[in-house]
Amino acid sequence: PPYLPLSLSLFCSFALSPSTSNQPAPAQIGQISSIVLGLPSVKFETLDPDSRAQSQHDSKSINERKGKVKLGQLDLEGALIARDRVGIQDFVLLDAHNSETAFLDNLKKRFTEDLIYVSEKQRLISGVFFIVIESFINQKTSPYSQTYIGTLLISVNPYKELDIYNKKQMDLYMGVNFFELPPHIYALADNAYHTMLSEANNHFILISGESGAGKTEASKKILQYYAVSCPSSTLLDTVRDRMLMSNPVLEAFGNAKTMKNDNSSRFGKYMDIQFDSQGDAVGGHILSYLLEKSRVVHQNHGERNFHIFYQLVEGGEEDLLRHLGLEKDTKRYSYLVQGECSNVSSINDKNDWKTVKNALSVIDFDANDIEHLFGIIASVLHLGNVHFDGDTKGYATLNSNAALRWVSKLLGVHVQILHEALTFRKIEAKSDEVLSPFTVDHAIYARDALAKAIYGRAFTWLVNRINESLENKDSNRKTVIGLLDIYGFEVFTVNSFEQFCINYCNEKLQQLFIQLTLKSEQEEYEAEGIGWEPVQFFNNKIICDLVEEKHRGIISVLDDECVRPGDASDLTFLEKLEEKMGNHPHFVTHKLADKKTRKSLERGDFRLLHYAGEVTYCVVGFIDKNNDLLYKNIKDVMRLSKNPIIQQCFPGTEGDSRRRPETVATQFKNSLLQLTEILTAKDAWYVRCLKSNDNKQTGKFDEVLVRHQVKYLGLMEHLRVRRAGFAYRRRYEVFLQRYKALCPATWPHWRGIPADGVETLVQHLGYQPDEYKMGRTKIFIRYARTLFAIEDAFEIC
Ligand code: ATP
Ligand code: MG
Repeated sequence: PPYLPLSLSLFCSFALSPSTSNQPAPAQIGQISSIVLGLPSVKFETLDPDSRAQSQHDSKSINERKGKVKLGQLDLEGALIARDRVGIQDFVLLDAHNSETAFLDNLKKRFTEDLIYVSEKQRLISGVFFIVIESFINQKTSPYSQTYIGTLLISVNPYKELDIYNKKQMDLYMGVNFFELPPHIYALADNAYHTMLSEANNHFILISGESGAGKTEASKKILQYYAVSCPSSTLLDTVRDRMLMSNPVLEAFGNAKTMKNDNSSRFGKYMDIQFDSQGDAVGGHILSYLLEKSRVVHQNHGERNFHIFYQLVEGGEEDLLRHLGLEKDTKRYSYLVQGECSNVSSINDKNDWKTVKNALSVIDFDANDIEHLFGIIASVLHLGNVHFDGDTKGYATLNSNAALRWVSKLLGVHVQILHEALTFRKIEAKSDEVLSPFTVDHAIYARDALAKAIYGRAFTWLVNRINESLENKDSNRKTVIGLLDIYGFEVFTVNSFEQFCINYCNEKLQQLFIQLTLKSEQEEYEAEGIGWEPVQFFNNKIICDLVEEKHRGIISVLDDECVRPGDASDLTFLEKLEEKMGNHPHFVTHKLADKKTRKSLERGDFRLLHYAGEVTYCVVGFIDKNNDLLYKNIKDVMRLSKNPIIQQCFPGTEGDSRRRPETVATQFKNSLLQLTEILTAKDAWYVRCLKSNDNKQTGKFDEVLVRHQVKYLGLMEHLRVRRAGFAYRRRYEVFLQRYKALCPATWPHWRGIPADGVETLVQHLGYQPDEYKMGRTKIFIRYARTLFAIEDAFEIC
């Protein structure tokens, strides 16, 4: 092909030219070489590896890469033979690309062969190849986001350990282009990393899917990959170890067994991994989102409290337990027995305790920190064992002092003051303070509110503390890869405020995906006047609006009801919803439903038709949970605590402002808004996790379940846009500037408008009409191979 020599000469000239500020760093030269190496091995032979092996990192792996290229070719031949048996790993290449059934068959075929990943590699090939070339040509005028809309990897949860996550596999994928080897989470991680390095910009990997689909596992694999594969030094090893070790710690405190998943994330986590210009992981920062605090005091049948409680009780050393006043029996603690499933076969609390303790020491927690942190965890368990009786007037009295004494000892607060705060409410009247006794129900409410507050705030403290240990103070420019692993969409028999928040969060992430891929992509074709048959897709913005719209959305109605004086209750909230949402196509209640639907709805329920399916929410508890009130005198007591962590969690300044604090839902809404802003400023990579079955069963591929997920995740639509869309687009002037050397008529200068120059150029190159489109300001090229025919050989795999 006429353009082949150019790509190589481009490469050679850039690789060998002297360094300027726009020139690639040695690591980038390695990057482009590896991309060219990803092409047939004959190209490899023609390039002198030593001339590029300038950094230690590169010279170390250059021979390995050579080996890999050969291996890649073997894999390619093997893949051809095995194609019918194992399905196609690049879903853009599926012949029957419009058929959901073909798509599912392919997933199933691969799943039964333990091949749990499929990707859209064709796109990535073009993406990476172009981008790298581009970064060599003109980094400043070519923002990556305009060329390329992110890469998608689909993963199906195998529910069994596969021998594909080890050092050997990592080595195989390291620095190798996506198309050389079968799709893998390592391939995506590696390509994101190398693109970040060569582009010197920020990226994020959005991992989504329903509860139990494998998001947390995927995010851990990515982090492990970076920890093992990035260049290292002793100092950086510390950062890296801490980053890795933050996982078991946060999982212990923030994950729990639910009916959907034995290790379900009960908080959202976004982690920035910071890299320096050499590609070393030099720091990190974690943002956490809305921990499901209610679990501390209540668990549904078949579910557990947060892992850490069981780990401490089951695994804690005798001395420690004695010091904390705990017995080695989870059944002794009210907060641990409600789900009636303390022991879970897939969980080894004793071993996990050791892991967590070790992880805490790696993260630089000293003995004091650990003592105070576990003092808090134990105090919550004791608090749960504080029971109340009613006196003759029905007011709460302490059933026994023993548990409360432990709470007061561990939190370092006076037992009498704590006692008073749990059984009386302090009412401030002018200059006087009046104590009003609690009923038993009120006292239980106050106790549980305190337990939730202590745990929730300690969790925030923990995240901050981990962030301190991951902080990189040096001011050199860093680029980041953000990893988003949030609680997945979930539907239980009874769904409450927590599911409402979690599912709303998933709506937002789906909306972001739609915005960044389906919508913006198609809008650009329209804006550019490109003849385009629009791909229909369900835009879930309507549901996001239903939940979050100012003055009208569900959160707004809930907030209004939370501040309304008088008879506001969960039921009046429901009534207000019915008034406001009455005709909304995604909202229904018993009162609004037709005869048939009404049967499946209780009077205190509302149902939302989410993008991922219907969920019926029971309104009980919405007002309380949204208010998340902690009585002032309880806060005052906590401020006097001698436990330094509690002191930080309940600062003296809290509550000074006369303004009402934001409700939980509004805080959550705002934090998701901020998250969206953080993400949209970065380039996207997507991992879509699919759940293979609902019973956590190895090897079972539930077609109905997977089909449902393929549908609601919009994977077919995504595929159609990708298939029918254009792999590459570039403004005329930039395109011309870059490729004008390919055509005598445009070289060295084109005198005329850039669009005509581009037309002349592509005519000269022999482009066929279906290969490109001329837009208003840009040229759109359908296939990468149109420009770089050398990629043809790889389309097949
Ligand atoms: P949630 O939204 O509830 O947090 P999740 O999507 O994070 O769910 P994970 O905790 O990652 O789900 O996965 C659930 C379980 O599925 C894991 O504990 C593990 O047993 C299994 N699993 C997930 N991914 C893999 C994988 N790649 N290989 C083997 N097992 C896996
Ligand atoms: Mg998870």
